[in-house]
Amino acid sequence: MSLVARDRQVIWHPFTRQKNMLPPIPIVKGEGTLLWDEDGKSYIDAISSWWVNLHGHAHPYIAEKLYRQALQLEQVIFAGFTHKPAIELAERLLPLLPGHFSRVFYSDNGSTATEVALKMAIQYWWNQNEKHRKKILAFHHSYHGDTFGAMSVSDRSVFTLAFHDLLFDVVFIDTPTTTNLSSLIETISAHAAETAAFIYEPLVQGAGGIKMYDVAPMDHLLKQVKKMGIICIADEVMTGFWRTGKSFASHYLSVEPDIICLSKGLTGGTMALGVTACSPKIYDAYMSDDALKTFFHGHSFTANPLACTAALASLDLLHEADCRHQIQMICEENQQFAVQLQHSQLPYKNIRIRGTILAFEIEQGEDVYLNNIGALVTEQALSKGIYLRPLGNTVYIMPPYCISRAELQQVYDCILSIRL
Ligand SMILES: *Cc1c(COP(=O)(O)O)cnc(C)c1O
Repeated sequence: MSLVARDRQVIWHPFTRQKNMLPPIPIVKGEGTLLWDEDGKSYIDAISSWWVNLHGHAHPYIAEKLYRQALQLEQVIFAGFTHKPAIELAERLLPLLPGHFSRVFYSDNGSTATEVALKMAIQYWWNQNEKHRKKILAFHHSYHGDTFGAMSVSDRSVFTLAFHDLLFDVVFIDTPTTTNLSSLIETISAHAAETAAFIYEPLVQGAGGIKMYDVAPMDHLLKQVKKMGIICIADEVMTGFWRTGKSFASHYLSVEPDIICLSKGLTGGTMALGVTACSPKIYDAYMSDDALKTFFHGHSFTANPLACTAALASLDLLHEADCRHQIQMICEENQQFAVQLQHSQLPYKNIRIRGTILAFEIEQGEDVYLNNIGALVTEQALSKGIYLRPLGNTVYIMPPYCISRAELQQVYDCILSIRL
C-alpha cells in the first residue's frame, strides 16, 4: 500500500476538513529549503513548514548535536532535577531577549508557552491578594494557540466557533493606529483595575492573516498599558528569531514586555519546545513561604534535553555572519519585490512586508470558485515546485534563512504567475 493509502486509514490531519480531503503529499526527505516527495519531486518550503524552520531541513549541524545529546541524556524529569542543555539555553537566551528578563520557564510548544504566560500573569495578582485582577486584554485578529486558554485570548473566528461559550471573557481591542489610539486607551482605562495582562503579537499578527501594524502607535499604547500596571505579554512565538528583520519584534518598540513567549523558530524548527520568560517583578511574586503561591504548572517533557540542544545549535547558527547576511538579503529582496508587486497589474492589494515576511491579499471577485483561492494558489505553486499555503485569500512568504537568491526569485516568479 502507498503512504497516502495508509495515511487515509489511520491519520487525522490538523486544520484539515476530513471529508473529500485532498491526498497529502508524502515527504521522504528534506535538505536546505527543499522538501522531496516519494516520487523524487522537490518543493521549496516558502513558509518554513508553518513558520518553524530557520536554517533549512535536516540541518547536519543540528542533527549531529542531537545525535550526541541523545546518546548522553534524552529526557529527565525537570522537577527536582536539572541538566546542562536547559541551563545553558536559559543563560544564552536571557541576555538576547528584548527587556529585563531573569527566568525561563520551559514547556512544549507555542500554545503552552502562552498558557503559561497567562497563568503566570493571573497568579501574579492572585499571589498579591489582588484577585479581582484577572481580565485579559488582547487584539482583534490575534492568534495565540489552540488550547483553551490560548483560544480564549485569540480572536473569535470560525475556527473557534464550537467553543465560544466555553472560552473566558476577554477585552478585545483593535490594533493601534494614529486615529484610534485615544479611543483604545479609553477602553483599556475602563477595564484597567480588573485587568491582569495584555497579550499581543508585536507588529505582525500571524495566523489572524499576517496583519501588520505600526511601531509608533503601538509604542504609545504600550506605554499607557504599562502605566496602568497591566502586565505586558509579548507573544513572539512567530516573530522571534529574526523573522521581522530584528532578533525579536519587540526590539522595534521602546517598551519592554514583562513576559515573552517563544517557540516555532526556537529550535530552528527541529524539535517542539516552548519558552515563557519573565522579568524579576513577576518571579518575585512567587518567592513566598506560602506553598499556595507556587506556580503549579508543568509538562511531562518540560525542558526536554534534546529540544534544548536543538535550540542551542540553532542559536549557534543564528550567530554566524552568513546567517545574518542571508536575513539581510531576504529583507532587501522582499522590499524590491513589494515595489514590483505594487506596480504590477495583478489583483493583489495590501502588499506589506516586515523583515523576511511578505504578505498581500488577492482581491476576491464575484466568482464562488474563488472562495477556495488558497487551495488554488497552493495547487499552482506545487506544480511549479514551490510550497505556499495562503490563509484564506492572504498569500504570504516566510522562507527559511538559508534560501538562495535564485530560489527566492523562483518563489517571486511563482507569485507573479498565479492564474485566477
Ligand atoms: C503558532 C503560534 C502559536 C501557537 O503555537 P503552537 O506551537 O502551534 O501551539 C502561538 N502564538 C503565535 C503568535 C503563533 O504564531
